[in-house]
Amino acid sequence: MVEKVVKCKTVEGVLDLLMKYERDARIIAGGTDIIIQLRQGRLSPKILIDISSIEELKYIEEKDGFIEIGGATTFQEIQKSSYLSGNMKGLSKAASMVGSPQIRSTATVGGNICNGSPAADIVPPLLALDAVAIIKSRKGTREVQLENFFIGKGKVDMGHDEILTSVRFKALENRSGLSFSKLGLRKALAISRICTSIMLQLDEDQNCSIIKIANGSLGEYGVREKDVEAFYINNKINDKTIEEGLELIKRSIYKRLHGRSSLPYKIEAVDRTFTDAIKNAMKEAMKENLVLCAN
Ligand SMILES: Cc1cc2nc3c(=O)[nH]c(=O)nc-3n(C[C@H](O)[C@H](O)[C@H](O)COP(=O)(O)OP(=O)(O)OC[C@H]3O[C@@H](n4cnc5c(N)ncnc54)[C@H](O)[C@@H]3O)c2cc1C
Repeated sequence: MVEKVVKCKTVEGVLDLLMKYERDARIIAGGTDIIIQLRQGRLSPKILIDISSIEELKYIEEKDGFIEIGGATTFQEIQKSSYLSGNMKGLSKAASMVGSPQIRSTATVGGNICNGSPAADIVPPLLALDAVAIIKSRKGTREVQLENFFIGKGKVDMGHDEILTSVRFKALENRSGLSFSKLGLRKALAISRICTSIMLQLDEDQNCSIIKIANGSLGEYGVREKDVEAFYINNKINDKTIEEGLELIKRSIYKRLHGRSSLPYKIEAVDRTFTDAIKNAMKEAMKENLVLCAN
């Protein structure tokens, strides 16, 4: 049973409490996942460490060609960023499709990642951006490639004494685009049934020089589709290659979800998210200039 909730004002304060209480402590940010888990008796910490008021964890910063987003940044804050909505439409769109306005005003990027759900909407765009998770404890700071951070359904590479302070990824270059497409069960409050995010870059001949494809809810956690990525490198993206890529995606989903009752639905549904995501990533990549205002 939770005995007390401590509202921290600094990351240093959080690290002290995590070290002191170890397994008895748990971080709470927006609370939109953890409160449900506490009510269901799936977790039973004695101390909740509330990080929702820590200003140093709430930021979106562009520096030296990299973007960093603080762990306690809410989806509403991401949605409002003109830099992200101008240059990284996929990230902005993913944030804008989480839950309802009330959920987006409190739910955080760090909570979405650390909860380890396969249906976490911000994870596929971050995987497509090759993001790194920055994790702190009293022992120091470590950086983990987000792709390696998920180790099982609901399991992430994080110790009891650690906090995710931010995620960092490279800003998009010219002729690049990031997209996000989601198919939910109901419109506003649907937790993603399937989502696809694609980051791609075109060369001067409009061939695909870089592509990162990530799916949500099509495995135990968000996954990159590397076989499909390899198929597109140095290839043109057109109706024919979209069909071919889709077949490869379906084959990889079949292997991952073989035997699950949801497989027939997911194999059909990915048609729409993948086709939509690759067309929109192309559209973004073909735009002339990036938006330069940063905030
Ligand atoms: C009605 C409803 C609709 C929803 N719709 C969606 C949706 O459409 N898409 C979607 O992806 N999700 C959805 N969710 C799930 C949830 O809102 C998100 O996963 C949200 O991002 C969780 O963030 P939080 O700040 O509320 O996390 P919390 O609930 O506070 O924490 C979640 C977990 O992460 C840990 N944690 C939080 N922050 C950190 C940190 N910085 N460092 C280390 N550990 C941390 C906590 O200890 C806890 O284990 C929905 C939830 C509800 C209730």
